[in-house]
Amino acid sequence: MPLVNLKPVLAEAKAQGYAVAAFNPVDYASMKAMIAAAEELNAPVIIQTSAKTINYYGHAALIGWMRELAENSPIPAVLHLDHGKDLDMIRKCVELGWTSVMIDWSDKPFDTNLATSRQVVELATAANVGVEAEIGQIHGVEDDMVVEEDYLTDPNEAEIFCRELDLAAFAAAIGTAHGYYKGEPKVAFGLIEEINRRTNTPMALHGGTGLSDEVIQKCIKLGCAKINISTNLKHVFIDSLVDYHREKPNDYEPLRVLGAQYAALKELFKSKIAQFGGTNRGSELLSKVA
Ligand SMILES: [Zn+2]
Repeated sequence: MPLVNLKPVLAEAKAQGYAVAAFNPVDYASMKAMIAAAEELNAPVIIQTSAKTINYYGHAALIGWMRELAENSPIPAVLHLDHGKDLDMIRKCVELGWTSVMIDWSDKPFDTNLATSRQVVELATAANVGVEAEIGQIHGVEDDMVVEEDYLTDPNEAEIFCRELDLAAFAAAIGTAHGYYKGEPKVAFGLIEEINRRTNTPMALHGGTGLSDEVIQKCIKLGCAKINISTNLKHVFIDSLVDYHREKPNDYEPLRVLGAQYAALKELFKSKIAQFGGTNRGSELLSKVA
């Protein structure tokens, strides 16, 4: 089925009390494993390309792979741009068929961020594309940018921002971080609750790798409807190849090696989709968003 807009997908997930898993593909096979995992569980899935991945493959290859996979699949899939900072890249995603884009000008002053995010909402909405935007800076390593300071989102700013913009998802700095956690993350549950109450916008949880199940379930209950998993995937991507080669050092059939990697990735995706409550939501969701 054709790719679907993020907005109705997350509105429905939030209303039903589950979260949609969002994964960052690194190649065609990892993208294919995402769709296969979602299909096996009859679940929606968000496939999100980082700017780095777009710069590596180009827009055309990614949208071509994605269309081929999604259009031959019965499950609702969203193609999203993760942490879009460059307006030309965002515009090109909207023009070429992404069904969701993130504008992340969270490192700019509030008014500049709001004005630019508004510009993106206008151009995206006209093309039936959903928008995620962020205020506050999420700790950790995000592409090549390192946010050193923990800068949590101000709930007053969040309320104004979400009232002014009709967003599919709101990303806030609530204590989670990109990358692997070195200690126990200090997730600000009270802040998540307050932001959700005051914005009434589905929240995107960044830095989902390494959070305990208890933390995840609590975040979903408080209104997080999109959970990003990237670091986890990178590790399984590399480790599955290394492990396979260690176990079978004489196997130089690339497709068998890649097959082992694909199987490991698909298991990771299935476990995350199921953990976030996406199992058996696919067909029901389709009847509402198609
Ligand atoms: Zn992020």
